[in-house]
Amino acid sequence: EYDRYTDRTPNSADVAETLREIVPAGVCSTFRAYDPHPVHAERAEGASMFDVDGNEYLDFALNNGTQLVGHAHPTLTDEVSDQLEDGTLYTRPSELIGYAAQPLVDRWDAIEQVRFTNSGTEAVMHATRLARAYTGREKLIRMEGAYHGAHDPALVSKMPPVEQAGPASDPRPVKESQGIPDAVPEDVLLAQYNDPNSVERLLRDHGSEVAAILVEPACLNLGLVEPEDGFLESVRSLADEYNVVLIFDEVKTGVKLAPGGGAEYYSVQPDLVALAKAIGGGYPVGAFGGRRDIMELVAADLQEGVATGAAHYGTYNGNPLALRAVGVTLREILTADAYDHVTGLAEMLADGYREIAADAGLDAQVKHVGSQGMVHFTDEPIRTFRDWEHIDEQFHEAYWISMLNRGVIPHPHDASQQWTVSVQHTAEDVEAHLEAFAAIADDLAAA
Ligand code: PMP
Repeated sequence: EYDRYTDRTPNSADVAETLREIVPAGVCSTFRAYDPHPVHAERAEGASMFDVDGNEYLDFALNNGTQLVGHAHPTLTDEVSDQLEDGTLYTRPSELIGYAAQPLVDRWDAIEQVRFTNSGTEAVMHATRLARAYTGREKLIRMEGAYHGAHDPALVSKMPPVEQAGPASDPRPVKESQGIPDAVPEDVLLAQYNDPNSVERLLRDHGSEVAAILVEPACLNLGLVEPEDGFLESVRSLADEYNVVLIFDEVKTGVKLAPGGGAEYYSVQPDLVALAKAIGGGYPVGAFGGRRDIMELVAADLQEGVATGAAHYGTYNGNPLALRAVGVTLREILTADAYDHVTGLAEMLADGYREIAADAGLDAQVKHVGSQGMVHFTDEPIRTFRDWEHIDEQFHEAYWISMLNRGVIPHPHDASQQWTVSVQHTAEDVEAHLEAFAAIADDLAAA
């Protein structure tokens, strides 16, 4: 399959070689590099992406799910094009802030006030700083193996090799990058997703120093791991008991699991929410919001040399293009009918995978929630990061490359990701995805 991949993508190989000369690994986010070379995109439209070799792919990766509206959605393109003619940056605020903010306030019970950023990393970073400002404490509890962006504390134990991570009950903090100061892991306390006792233990030992618990409502950087009954509820009540701010990282789950994200889907409201990705229909934007008494601390004032609030600055924060994109996406494109459409197709895709895997005798578990889903090629349950050792990444890679060779990008590159069905996908697109999987299932089962 690798030979076939190389034969189909000679121009991508050339582009990769040229780029690697002047751009490390030839990519702008290290996740995007893989061997022998990534497919290089030329353009995308609707449910399809076209590469520089003229291949068309049905795209279920959708830029890590940002494209819940599909590619180049005409309503979104018209809206943003209008704004291009009216100027792209003003220095001054505009009424567009409300156009984008109101639907977020309407969708999340927890969001009384919101501020815009340019990415999910910034949204999580600012929510965390704000929680520290509010509580006057510094430590952060987060789940081992989860991804929360590219800032320093988020890169502690993102996804360490399990054998280097110490015991599950007392994980060793592992820095994902050089350049992270040694002081950073000291303030990061690692719990296990789906294990409320691990959160409680940390709070019992360090409660008075903990500012926030940061958690994804469904863990979408371990493929697709849903919270077990009572997990989010326990975390919510522990946060209350210890006066700790509960932050939901809804960068991936937000507006995708349900109109009001994981908070709505699982009926647990956090204190702060970090958002990005699908809220902007594919334009770069993020947001953090939540309880008014916490958000009101977003201020930058000094009294006698002491800061009285949590700073939030940014040249591109709330830029008109992003605001128009958020407003039109949430008000006009992601309607109730749109949610029915994507949820129905995501279920059809998951059911189809289950049937094909069973017929082929392939060890596979297929999960789906809202517009998203994923296949894990193992019978072992995957419910925390420590179960990740059951995933054979090379086997998964073979599946992924084989699907690309058949004109389907099943999900972003990596077993830790998941597929998204967009509002522009059709039942025929889902059938074509399933046909490609059916065509390789027997070979995978035999491998
Ligand atoms: N949080 C989660 C849960 C994410 O999945 C990501 C990105 N994959 C981020 C934060 C960071 O978002 P961004 O890449 O926009 O900075």
